Formats: sequence, C-alpha cells, structure tokens
Amino acid sequence: MSLEQLTPTVLIVDDQPDNIQVLAKLLKADCRIKVANSGAKALTLANGEMPPDLILLDVQMPDMDGYEVCQRLKENRRTHDIPVIFVTASNSVTDEEKGFLLGAVDYITKPFYPVIVRARVNTHLSLKRKTDLLEKIAMLDGLTGIPNRRYFDEQLTREFGLARRQGSPLSVILMDVDHFKQFNDHYGHGPGDECLKKVALALTLAAERPTDVIARYGGEEFVALLPGTDAAGACRVAERLREAVQALALPHAHSSAAEVVTLSLGVAVLPASTDTPRDDQACMTSLLAQADAALYAAKQAGRNCYRLASEST
Ligand code: GH3
Ligand code: MG
Ligand code: MG
Repeated sequence: MSLEQLTPTVLIVDDQPDNIQVLAKLLKADCRIKVANSGAKALTLANGEMPPDLILLDVQMPDMDGYEVCQRLKENRRTHDIPVIFVTASNSVTDEEKGFLLGAVDYITKPFYPVIVRARVNTHLSLKRKTDLLEKIAMLDGLTGIPNRRYFDEQLTREFGLARRQGSPLSVILMDVDHFKQFNDHYGHGPGDECLKKVALALTLAAERPTDVIARYGGEEFVALLPGTDAAGACRVAERLREAVQALALPHAHSSAAEVVTLSLGVAVLPASTDTPRDDQACMTSLLAQADAALYAAKQAGRNCYRLASEST
C-alpha cells in the first residue's frame, strides 16, 4: 500500500469558494482535498472511482441543499457508508437535529475554529479507517488471508444477479484437499496449516481474471467463482488450479492419489440465459449442490482430478 492510499481524502462541498479555501487550508496537512461547488458535483465525485473517506457538506446551497445531498448519499449503497459532517452558519438546534436524522455523523458551525474543525474531522476519519479495516478483516479468512466464505456468498449473490441480467454464464468450482486428515496425522497440525496457506496462495495466483474469486470455503475446502465463464472455460480453469497445487510439490506420503498434496474439484455451471429464475436463492443453492456432487464424483474417480456437474449428476 502506498503512502497516497494511506492519506485519507476529504470532499469539501460548498457553493462559496471562500469557505472551501478556509477549510482546505485547515485540513490539507492531514488529508487529500477534493472540492465540489454544488450538490450535483458532490454526488458525482462521491460515486466516482475514488470515493472520499469523509464529506464536509454545506447546508445552504442553491439548487440542491446539503440535506438533500446527504439524503441521496445515504440512499445509495455505494455512498451509504461515507461519513458526512454538516457545515452551517446556523446554530439552530432544529437544523442540527435534521442533519443527524438524515444520517450525518457531526456538525460544524461557521465561523470555523481551527482546532475544533481539525479534531472533529480527524476523529471521524480515524473511526472510518477502523471500520473499513474491520470490514475487510471480516471478509478475509484468518489463516490464509484470502477471502472467506462470507465474502464468497456475497459475491455469488452479486454475480448471480449480474449473470441473469446480462445473460452471461457463471461457474463455480468446489475444491477439497485429498486425504488431508492423513496429512495432519502424519506431519502435524502446524504443517497442515502451512500447507493450506500455500494451497490458498497457489490457487489465488492461478486464477487469471480480475473478476475471478478464490475463497476458503471452510476447513480444507476452497471455492472459485468465475463470472462470464462457461463449462469449457471452467474446466480449463479447474485443470489449471489442479496443476497449480500439484506443482507446489508438497510431499504427502500418505495419500493414495499422489506423492504430493493434491486437490479434487467439482465444477458446476449456470448456463448463459436471461430467464429469470423463480427463486434466486434456490438456484444458487442448487448450483453449489451440483458442484459438491461433482466433487464427490472426482473423489470417487480416484482424486487429483476434476469432474463437471452435468457429467456426474
Ligand atoms: P478426502 O480426500 O476424502 O477429502 O479425505 P480428507 O482426509 O481430506 O477428508 P476429511 O474430511 O476426512 O478430513 C479433513 C481434514 O482436514 C480433517 C481436518 O483435521 C483437516 N482440517 C480442516 N481444517 C483444517 C485447518 O484449518 N488446519 C489443519 N491443519 N487441518 C484442517
Ligand atoms: Mg473435506
Ligand atoms: Mg479432503
């Protein structure tokens, strides 16, 4: 992570350039500053590629006032979690109350007292950073550092919806380390953990597209989510994942499948179609059940191989 990424970005929204300048001068030592002189511009910037970590939002603006901007930010999933501090000349309690009801985290009144402005901004930036980090940790598997099942489930729901809307295929590959109980029994639990970390890394590196997700599904099971990938493509990926783990050449003296640690894989595909299923959840559950059945078939076939669901179920 670069220093640039670590420096928080604050978006200052005010129709009066003077106010923007005063605030920017106060904060520029600690933050990167973006500015917007209207509510509409603020919404565009907040929805952009690099959303701000905090928004200082003037209440009184022509066209769209700060309250409306705040309301729109809070209604949108993409901008919902950006903290908003209202900036106003008014010190009426009713206005303040209205701001908090709309989801603002704090209130700053003009004229500005530099120490107070900096303290409030820094408090909320620090809270935001911790919340972001917690969220990230909650989506990552503690042992291997790759995404966990919760993340996978969220992405599956998202990609499933997208695949249906776009009429594109979606593939899932369930993977399970072969004879891992014997690995643990023979080499110990510590080396077992190290082995899982190496497998996780190898799988992550072997997934090529930026939209592919490799996650730890639980225990010695991993899962791949491959948006826009049909059966032929998913089978190629499965073979590549299988090879990547075998190529680690981690000795496994007690496996019937090979001399080294290997995986069995089950591939299931949601074909390209724009038919809206009656029940998305049931359809996703069935996709995972198909992958699981295909994985079982791969185990039956001698392990260290993949099977495609339609062939096995
Ligand atoms: P199969 O080839 O049929 O999959 O056999 P297996 O031995 O891999 O399957 P089984 O489900 O019987 O055993 C899974 C083993 O994985 C048992 C468990 O101790 C081990 N395991 C699961 N999670 C972890 C972990 O986080 N660390 C370690 N070291 N071992 C784990
Ligand atoms: Mg298992
Ligand atoms: Mg296993």
